[in-house]
Amino acid sequence: MSVKYDHKEIEPRWQQYWEDSGTFKVTEDSSKPKYYCLEMFPYPSGRIHMGHVRNYSIGDVIARHKTMRGFNVLHPMGWDSFGLPAENAAIEKGVHPAVWTSQNIAYMKHQLKRMGLSYDWGREITTCEPAYYKWNQWFFLKMYEKGLAYKRRSSVNWCGSCETVLANEQVVDESCWRCSSAVEQKNLEQWFFKITHYAEELLSGCDNLPGWPERVLTMQRNWIGKSVGVEIDFPLADSNIPVRIFTTRPDTLFGATFMSLAPEHPLVNELIRGTETETGVRDFIERVKRQDKIVRTSADVEKEGVFTGRYAINPLTREKIPVWVANFVLVEYGTGSIMAVPAHDQRDYEFAGKYKIPKRVVIQNNEGTLSVDSMTAAYTEEGVLVNSGQFSGVKSSEAIGLIAAYIEKEGMGKCTVNYKIRDWGVSRQRYWGTPIPVIYCDKCGTVPIPENELPVLLPKDVAFTGKGGSPLLQSREFIETRCPACDGDGRRETDTMDTFVDSSWYFLRYCSPHSDKFPFNSNHISYWMNVDQYIGGIEHAVLHLLYSRFVTRVIRDLGLIQNDEPFMNLLTQGMVIKDGAKMSKSKGNVVDPDYIIETFGADTARLFSLFAAPPEKDLDWNDRGVEGAHRFLSRIYRKVAELAPFFNGLPDSCPEGELPADLKNLRKAVHQTIKKVTDDIDVFHFNTAISFIMELVNNIYLVPVDGRTGDKVFLFAMKEAMDNVVLLLSPFAPHISEEMWTMLGHEPSVLKYKWPSCSDEIASEEERIIIIQVNGKVRSKIMVPAGSGEEEIREKALSDERLKSFLGDKTPKKVFVVQGKLVNIVI
Ligand SMILES: [Zn+2]
Ligand SMILES: [Zn+2]
Repeated sequence: MSVKYDHKEIEPRWQQYWEDSGTFKVTEDSSKPKYYCLEMFPYPSGRIHMGHVRNYSIGDVIARHKTMRGFNVLHPMGWDSFGLPAENAAIEKGVHPAVWTSQNIAYMKHQLKRMGLSYDWGREITTCEPAYYKWNQWFFLKMYEKGLAYKRRSSVNWCGSCETVLANEQVVDESCWRCSSAVEQKNLEQWFFKITHYAEELLSGCDNLPGWPERVLTMQRNWIGKSVGVEIDFPLADSNIPVRIFTTRPDTLFGATFMSLAPEHPLVNELIRGTETETGVRDFIERVKRQDKIVRTSADVEKEGVFTGRYAINPLTREKIPVWVANFVLVEYGTGSIMAVPAHDQRDYEFAGKYKIPKRVVIQNNEGTLSVDSMTAAYTEEGVLVNSGQFSGVKSSEAIGLIAAYIEKEGMGKCTVNYKIRDWGVSRQRYWGTPIPVIYCDKCGTVPIPENELPVLLPKDVAFTGKGGSPLLQSREFIETRCPACDGDGRRETDTMDTFVDSSWYFLRYCSPHSDKFPFNSNHISYWMNVDQYIGGIEHAVLHLLYSRFVTRVIRDLGLIQNDEPFMNLLTQGMVIKDGAKMSKSKGNVVDPDYIIETFGADTARLFSLFAAPPEKDLDWNDRGVEGAHRFLSRIYRKVAELAPFFNGLPDSCPEGELPADLKNLRKAVHQTIKKVTDDIDVFHFNTAISFIMELVNNIYLVPVDGRTGDKVFLFAMKEAMDNVVLLLSPFAPHISEEMWTMLGHEPSVLKYKWPSCSDEIASEEERIIIIQVNGKVRSKIMVPAGSGEEEIREKALSDERLKSFLGDKTPKKVFVVQGKLVNIVI
């Protein structure tokens, strides 16, 4: 038997074994509890990177551990394979996106198999295949029928470099989420999914996801952006036409000294038509419309406006207040107009200061010291109402409800709820995506494709020039078609769907990947869903993770599933960094997984990526750490190889008789390690779990072997230790574990064996060390029985000889006992 650990020989052999014997294949089995473990599927960009290695290693440990704990584990993998890079490759290299994509998938699949990941490849899905995207189209039609997919002209985010529209969720810091180019605004006819219909449910659902990181939930709540407030009518002074505003602060209504309208507000035209302010206001509006909306509303941008020359009446004070147009008011939010309270709103404060509009304090601070003259910023805290008619003297927190109710009672407005979230724009002006299944007919208008004509296939023979927009615009064969309603001439929609549509339900498809009559089989869904553990990057917090929660609810409301939420538990892993920066080609700090697997083996790559940091933290790549992980595997392999030949014909239980102290300690260490590793894996502390296994291997090495290989008691204890090391190690380093498992005389696969359980009797420590401190400095140690009481420990400490000789004739002033740990004596 070779004692040299040869990963190059071991790893491919076990991969072949797993494939040949279908080790990772699963089907529904009602006799077992199920567990659905899912990592976010990759975009097939060409090769896997270290971030993938980390993500999938985490998922694989969880999947393998749960399998050994008796769960029927669904652990699938697939390809999020529509998207822009394939199309760009077609333009640059002249290779068709379909060819480029399938080449990449083939290579990356080979890489994933080399990592020894326990995927059921029989469930692989590829979103760019018609068998998959047909169902995107089917959902689109169902949503269209229910009014959840609709088309309208709107101002949209446009990335000039990607030549396509972006959803609000895909604009990050005013730039494209993919290529970081600046985003501009364009007016286009677009298809939308009505995510706003589910705004309240998506928000309240956040409270039912205790297994999600709070940070992600906060990002979703903020993105949905609910605000409860009041809509109030401010009648125009000379016409009585009401201008409706939305505010979350009706308690400040008496302090409203002007109004601001969005430049796009439909009433603005009417207000200025034929007046002497008309030209000035129009110039201002034209200028503001060209500015980016996100920039316009950010806190550090100069507040600008123009007076319309008109006045409105504050409905509570009956005062005439000027009506302005201001850059920071958006027509999409609330009613597109606001009451301005400069004393209690910072934007209004800055605006009023710039244009010399009066301010009025209506909420007094607790000290009663607030005055317009002494203010240097708006007062936005709570306080007591002043200058507020019948509401003066009321606490501001109470006044919000009281004034809102008064407004409603007097017919001046109504209480309402507002959300920041906007409908999801899903039209993309690109080729490599799901065709939107709609036809335009001059006679019939917008006509959905009949279900039985799905899928609408992407035409293959199109030219990729990189110019003139989507290649679909040039494909007459694709565009020109019959109208399904009147059989006259029809034109196909040339926009394709946002690829985030593909990934918003793929986790359902894994449950029945080959279903062809329906997107999935509902029996399979009810067995496997929800996803018990989802693992991926935090960058998807408001994109993919919100869309998936939305689409899951849509599919539920189509009557196809019963689930509200797709993912019960979410783990967001940190980045892989090297030399202080995220690995990237441009920084030249990329470590290639192929190189690591070739040189050190997949088991080493997995072990290192799990050992170097807890999963949610960034992982700092460290070559010496990789070598250390490899050395550890070699070390345990050598010990197994050394002793395995003596393990034949051992009894199943520990032979009778007194164990020598070193073996007794070893058995205790084994069982304590089982407990610690199991507990740590359950809470994803993989790094500490691995270090406990390493510690146990050190303990094994401490037991002398010489002259004992004929001793059954010795052999039993050593084999017990090694069996357990291998079982505990197997989720992290599966290939070497399979190898050692057979060396120890077991049948493969180790994955079919039960996860070890800890014997409390063996693991319980019979004695504990108690440290004795005098004035905070360690002076002695004593051993006490585990579970000793405070009084017992105190007595034993005070009778300790070392302590007595240290104290001499001094009498302790105080004795503190920290149970089970230490005694501190003050003299
Ligand atoms: Zn872009
Ligand atoms: Zn027609």
